[in-house]
Amino acid sequence: MANKTTDYRKELFYQPKHGYDRIDAKERAALEAYAEEYKTFLDTARTEREAVKLSIEMAEAKGFVPYVPGMELKAGTKLYYNNRGKALILAVMGKQPLSDGCVIAGAHVDAPRLDLKQQPLMEAEELAFFRTHYYGGIKKYQWVALPLELHGVVALQSGDTVDVVIGRDPGDPQLVITDLLPHLGGEQGKKTLSDAITGEGLKLLIGSVPYASEGKDRVKLAVMSILNDRYGITEEDFLSAELVAVPALEVRDIGLDRSMIGGYGHDDRSCAFAELKAILELKVPPRTAVCILADKEETGSDGVTGMLSQAFDFFIEDLCEAQGVSLRRCYEKSFCLSADVCNGYDPLYPEVSELTNNAKLNYGVGICKYTGSRGKSGTSDASAEVVAYLRKVFAEKNVVWQMAELGKVDQGGGGTIAKYMANRGIDTIDAGVPVLSMHAPFEIVAKFDCYMTYKAVAALYGAK
Ligand code: MN
Ligand code: MN
Repeated sequence: MANKTTDYRKELFYQPKHGYDRIDAKERAALEAYAEEYKTFLDTARTEREAVKLSIEMAEAKGFVPYVPGMELKAGTKLYYNNRGKALILAVMGKQPLSDGCVIAGAHVDAPRLDLKQQPLMEAEELAFFRTHYYGGIKKYQWVALPLELHGVVALQSGDTVDVVIGRDPGDPQLVITDLLPHLGGEQGKKTLSDAITGEGLKLLIGSVPYASEGKDRVKLAVMSILNDRYGITEEDFLSAELVAVPALEVRDIGLDRSMIGGYGHDDRSCAFAELKAILELKVPPRTAVCILADKEETGSDGVTGMLSQAFDFFIEDLCEAQGVSLRRCYEKSFCLSADVCNGYDPLYPEVSELTNNAKLNYGVGICKYTGSRGKSGTSDASAEVVAYLRKVFAEKNVVWQMAELGKVDQGGGGTIAKYMANRGIDTIDAGVPVLSMHAPFEIVAKFDCYMTYKAVAALYGAK
């Protein structure tokens, strides 16, 4: 024993290797090309609605058609179900019947942001503002003194819908929330980070010139007049609008080595794109492949477009009925990769993570066996057998992956759509891209991990 120490360690110990030590030049070129495609997707899809719209365009270009009840479904048929323009399910029918289950990858396309209230417009001391109600888990102080864009829709009483995008085009004006100057920020500085900026304080500055008329609220009137000219809307129309402010930041390479990508919404569009690209490339998979681009994950997956909605079950049930298969028979044989980001280990904040079990940048797609908090509360905790299955599939297709955990025990925690899929009776496990500065207006991912998440989904779709 004594003289075979080196080999013996190699044989018995698990020693993960850096991703870049595990790929050749050809694969490196493939990952660089993948990163460019993803950057374009992320730059274009700033909201769940825009992500769904773009994904449908990409899918139709690859031969996907809208699902129509009763349509012919044969091996290789490519279809999609557009859930109210905010969530999307794509499927490619497999060689095997749905009684063998389907292979599902589920990501979400909503991201933390600031929603306008239903009565947003106000004027204070001859400055005009939009009131907001933030969406998802944000650190409020990160959203002040930051250029913002406005995206969304105004649904009119007539039944028409007006698309709104302000601040995206290079010549467009942008919006901002002001912060206090440090000279007068003494008292503010004594508050905690979570108290210094309040939710109600997140008001977007939108105008300062009064309308040429008598009376009060002249700046508000001037802003409303601009909106009326541009979109034909009145103040009442905000009541039925969904307008959201998102960071007006361009997606950029990060690091002198360009190995990372900075941008808004990596959570979870880095995984959404990975799934989308994988399903768009399929011809005839062994089992039916399903790609979910869900909404409302950041607020708990409730609602008609969230993963707690039965819209998903109805769609799969339709496919099953066409083959005379019951939904439950299909679910119990199905597998779901809940493709969502995890936290990357950040050496600037070592106190919150346990390094060995935390995902690291450039070590590949992060598999989270469990999420939850305080004793794994709220997790679906995938079975050991499910992890073993992934090990096998990933080993066969050279997918570089790592085990991940969201922070130290009792440090905090989080959730994804995994438990809602598992609760349906589907074996489900979380896997995704490790992120630095998650939920910040500008998040960071490694190109390597994005590419490996795509490879992971592709490997599962192709698995027998
Ligand atoms: Mn997420
Ligand atoms: Mn999130």
